[in-house]
Amino acid sequence: MSRVTRATINLTALKYNLAIVKKSAPPQKIMAVVKADAYGHGMARVAQALKEVLSEQDAFAVASIDEAVMLRAVGITNSIVVLEGFNSSADLTLIQQHNISVVIHHISQLILLELQAEQVKNIKCWLKIDTGMHRLGFAPDDVKKMYQRLLNTGVDTDIGLMTHLANADDRGDSKSEQQVELFNQIVSGNPAETSLANSAAILGWPTAHGHWVRPGIMLYGVNPFVYSTENEANKLAATLKPVMTLSAALIAINKISKDETIGYGSTWSCPEDMLVGVVSIGYGDGYPRHAPSGTPVLVNGKRAALIGRVSMDMIMVDLRQQTDVKVGDEVTLWGDGLPVEEIAAAADTIGYELLCGVTRRVVFEYKDSE
Ligand SMILES: *Cc1c(COP(=O)(O)O)cnc(C)c1O
Repeated sequence: MSRVTRATINLTALKYNLAIVKKSAPPQKIMAVVKADAYGHGMARVAQALKEVLSEQDAFAVASIDEAVMLRAVGITNSIVVLEGFNSSADLTLIQQHNISVVIHHISQLILLELQAEQVKNIKCWLKIDTGMHRLGFAPDDVKKMYQRLLNTGVDTDIGLMTHLANADDRGDSKSEQQVELFNQIVSGNPAETSLANSAAILGWPTAHGHWVRPGIMLYGVNPFVYSTENEANKLAATLKPVMTLSAALIAINKISKDETIGYGSTWSCPEDMLVGVVSIGYGDGYPRHAPSGTPVLVNGKRAALIGRVSMDMIMVDLRQQTDVKVGDEVTLWGDGLPVEEIAAAADTIGYELLCGVTRRVVFEYKDSE
């Protein structure tokens, strides 16, 4: 029998989460973000499922030209926006060939467009404005000039204006309001389409909705907010359904004596004679090595605690609360019944990183009940 370590991807939940995007930002157009292999869920299957519930006018967003080309190869005909744009003339050829839209965020890209005038015809562009995140984008004072320069290169005249919020995941932080205000000042008088909102802004900052919203993590059923404060945004976030369930199996159940230690480094000792389960998952599958003893798992749907260090292929769990277990029983690491946010908090990271980090050794299964 092969190793049972599985990521089950629930495409019905994915489509349900898209409906929550639509409900949260009703008239806006959607750029569904499927970068990084759809946050580790498998880009082709995720994009095809989303396409069923998106309109023809909606778009997909990815990080790189390669990802955009892959989407075309699996039959995606919607617009595809590359959030990091391009950085070579070879990229420009692919952009034209595959009808890809690009974000222009740096002077080096403008210069390339100016030098390759014959290659830029009809390329759809988004001009990125840095309103305070200081990652990508033109400084507010340069925007008018750069917009004009971009227009003069001969790209599609329908240039969009976008920015990205640094702290949208914290409803108590006023920086988002400042960024939105600055963005509105810069774009005022320009009839171009706008886009500012990631998942957190879609759910929590209605003034940032603009014409296009860019949901990523919420599509995969993860609450984008850092604090679980009781408010409307969190209530809506709580209705999202997890798309990935990561599971494995008990491969051994051992009786270990009081004061014996468990795993590498002997970091956990048994407070009494007890049953210890060995589970077929480890950091080689993308389970976080920094998850400490006490991190929850579900054994046959019931909570149990990780004990000792995470190994490459295995973890050990405390089975003292589990009376009726046998080798082969299912263990859930996150997903249905155990939010990935909770595991991320225990391992001092974020759900995004855990989802993106599931490795190719894990078997992916797709289900769609519709
Ligand atoms: C990744 C990304 C998003 C999606 O962010 P989520 O927090 O996952 O919703 C939106 N916009 C840009 C520019 C991004 O890079």
